Amino acid sequence: MKIYNTTTRQKEEFESIKENEVGIYSCGPTVYSSPHIGNMYAYICWDVLARIKKYLGYNVNWVMNVTDVGHLVNDSDDGEDKMEKGSKQEGLSVWEIAKKYENEFEENLKELNIQHPNVLCKATDNIKEQIDLIKKIEANGFTYKITDGIYFDTSKFADYGKFANLNLDKIREGARVEVNEEKKNPTDFALWKFSPTSEKRQMEWESPWGVGFPGWHIECTAMSIKYLGETFDIHTGGEDHINIHHTNEIAQGYGAFGHNTANYWMHNAFITFKGEKISKSSGGLFTIFDLKNKGFDPLAYRYMALGSHYRKGIEFSLESLKTAEIALNKLRSYKIDSLGKVDKTYKKEFIEKISDDLAMPEAMAIVWKMMKSDLSTEDKWATLLDFDQVLGLNLKSIKTNTIKLGLSYEVVPKEIVDLVEQRKKVREEKNWAESDRLREVLKNKGYLVEDSQNSCKIHKIR
Ligand code: AMP
Ligand code: ZN
Repeated sequence: MKIYNTTTRQKEEFESIKENEVGIYSCGPTVYSSPHIGNMYAYICWDVLARIKKYLGYNVNWVMNVTDVGHLVNDSDDGEDKMEKGSKQEGLSVWEIAKKYENEFEENLKELNIQHPNVLCKATDNIKEQIDLIKKIEANGFTYKITDGIYFDTSKFADYGKFANLNLDKIREGARVEVNEEKKNPTDFALWKFSPTSEKRQMEWESPWGVGFPGWHIECTAMSIKYLGETFDIHTGGEDHINIHHTNEIAQGYGAFGHNTANYWMHNAFITFKGEKISKSSGGLFTIFDLKNKGFDPLAYRYMALGSHYRKGIEFSLESLKTAEIALNKLRSYKIDSLGKVDKTYKKEFIEKISDDLAMPEAMAIVWKMMKSDLSTEDKWATLLDFDQVLGLNLKSIKTNTIKLGLSYEVVPKEIVDLVEQRKKVREEKNWAESDRLREVLKNKGYLVEDSQNSCKIHKIR
């Protein structure tokens, strides 16, 4: 399998550290507000990666963190703490805020049929591990102490900025008004922050350096190596993480162990709305539950995500979500109870695509080519269910039924499908009286049947 490694900026043949095993660490949510469709897009991408690895025969250990310690609102180490801000806004403690949004995140995972990571670890449960890691970095001479915390001295790591192709001279020039004058270099970042003397923080811990809380990059390095080892296979995140978060994680890895902790770094592009990063002001800041309230099936969003490459991102609109839902329902409409066999030729083509750096749009094209082929209906459904181990559209357990209504495929109650089938049968037997009776039954249930010479169309009476 080939994957695009941000470290080398090219597609590389994937080689796992241990045979048939793969360790994946994904930067997870900060639990201070509801996750939006952009956040969930990232986790769909990495769920697909984990599913592909499983499909190709690997044992997958997928680790994700939950950031429940406050990050500061901006990328530098000052500003307001996101968790404390959420806590003030909602009148709940930071611990309650964290619990509330962690639960909400897990509900989102279920709605989108994203597998639960093998480990979903919280920053607050791993404070000791973070302190131990800072101690290591300190012992190796990469840190210094200033008034508000312990900082990583990025000038001690010669390759700092190489990962993100940062122009450090430009950054130095741009940092004329340095917010924190005690920092030695503008790119230096906090490993441990001291609690302010003026106010008591809701979340703070004892440490060898004083009471405070971890800086916002250390948790990912600490937890990834705790669960996956000092060097592991794949680290993922959104492309916004390249310049700072992952650049700093790499620096921490070198500071502690003298090497990059992950062999492959993968990044997803962003979901946009009206051409812009989704935000409150653009009006695109939907949650999965907003989409549900608008009558959409959350899995239609997953289907939509599969339609674009993870490094390209997607322009989101409700219209394209509708189109995705119609296509998903059409796939569901192939459901039959007897299973045939998985078609080897299509499976081979499907594997070629998914193994090419998760080429999901091309893989979806194979799905449709197969569905429209002259394979038997039983074989089509069996092959589709096999592919669905990667797609994750939960086709195996659809309880609802799909029918062609007008031009699109819609999910209708099973009773309606049965009535339509029954009517089809009696018409084949030329039992017109029964056919007319069933037409009336359907009409009373809200479905209008229109017969033409050799087909019948069904419309929902609105
Ligand atoms: P946060 O909870 O803010 O830490 O973000 C969680 C994840 O969502 C990060 O990996 C981000 O890179 C990702 N993310 C945020 N906005 C978007 C977006 N519009 N499209 C795709 N991924 C996003
Ligand atoms: Zn992270």
